[in-house]
Amino acid sequence: MADMTEPRQNSPLVPRMRPFTSTIFAEISALAVRTGAINLGQGFPDTEGPQLILDRAAEAIHGGANQYPPGLGVPALRTAIAEHQKRFYGLDPDPDAEVLVTAGATEAIAATILALCEPGDEVVTFEPYYDSYAASIALAGAQRRTVRLRRPSFAFDSFTFDDGELRQAFGDRTRLVLLNTPHNPTGKVFTRAELELIAELATRHGAYVVTDEVYEHLIFDGLRHVPMATLPGMAERTLTISSAGKTFSVTGWKIGWMHGPAELVAAARAVKQFLTYVNGGPFQPAVAAALGLDDTFYAELAGQLQAKRDLLSQGLAAAGFDVLPTSGTYFVVTDVAPLGFDDGLDLCWKLPELTGVAAVPVSVFCDDKEAARSLVRFAFCKRDDVLSEAAERLAGLRT
Ligand code: PMP
Ligand code: GLN
Repeated sequence: MADMTEPRQNSPLVPRMRPFTSTIFAEISALAVRTGAINLGQGFPDTEGPQLILDRAAEAIHGGANQYPPGLGVPALRTAIAEHQKRFYGLDPDPDAEVLVTAGATEAIAATILALCEPGDEVVTFEPYYDSYAASIALAGAQRRTVRLRRPSFAFDSFTFDDGELRQAFGDRTRLVLLNTPHNPTGKVFTRAELELIAELATRHGAYVVTDEVYEHLIFDGLRHVPMATLPGMAERTLTISSAGKTFSVTGWKIGWMHGPAELVAAARAVKQFLTYVNGGPFQPAVAAALGLDDTFYAELAGQLQAKRDLLSQGLAAAGFDVLPTSGTYFVVTDVAPLGFDDGLDLCWKLPELTGVAAVPVSVFCDDKEAARSLVRFAFCKRDDVLSEAAERLAGLRT
């Protein structure tokens, strides 16, 4: 018996989850609260989304939509998700068999990986990666094979990956590719050509593609989001995941979804039903209504955020940061080396005290920590006056 308990002496937590005891977002947000700093760490907006979504949720609560919704999600939301996919991308999922509502994109990702991966299977993903990817892969006992997104070598270029490195990441045990576009934290929007290469490799290796598209509408400079499922032959092996949090500024509601081939959705659902079963009864009809907002809403969302990106990027550049280009999401990545700091992680712990602004280090999202050592991510989904004040405070770092 002693042998069995020995490895657990220091912690009751199973070893595979020990690297994941807390998240950088929780830690930095707590630090921001403790120090009263402007929080440009965790990505959440500081203004409300469309009035319609708030009104519909309030009506739903008062109208009695407060018990368990159906396991797949309320029919109105599944239909609205299918219509949204048709309207924006020409995809045509069957709301009754090919759409599943989840507790945020986070649950959709976890349920999918747990449903599809055996211990020892490999998941190809890009780094920096969103933190829940590594945790969900570990939870399943699978292995991540990461491909580095390399910072651009000249001003207007975007992060890129090496084709050879991507090819090498695939092997006999590759079960799925986990792709995030637009990409957190780099703001990279994967091009069609890049997606085609990923698609070709996934197909050749018989792998599924799971795409995290939560920033699908937060995209700038006239670029367009290309869902993997729209590439020839890819709908049959792709699970597309998104969520209401970013599009409608309701990150706390945790209404997400996935769609894809019926057998993949059914597999993910088998796991999902024992994670949360269902969530957000009154929020689901509200999200359904919001998905139907007209094109002006979606265009204004992207336009307003693009202006915020520019405002913060200019402020950061003026403050001496090396600002890397970002084409989507809530985030801009900077290099702090020109300011005389070589360790972004270390700096982010001190930044609130030094300047009254909080940010997150990029190295925590990487296996190759050295490559991202001096990179720091800032969120620009905040009021303009907050962004201006933050930039002014950060200018003090140089003096
Ligand atoms: N994926 C990415 C890339 C994210 O940045 C986030 C954070 N919002 C999520 C997934 C989680 O989305 P949700 O809040 O809907 O679970
Ligand atoms: N997606 C948010 C970000 O990247 C954080 C969400 C969370 O705290 N888990 O900032």
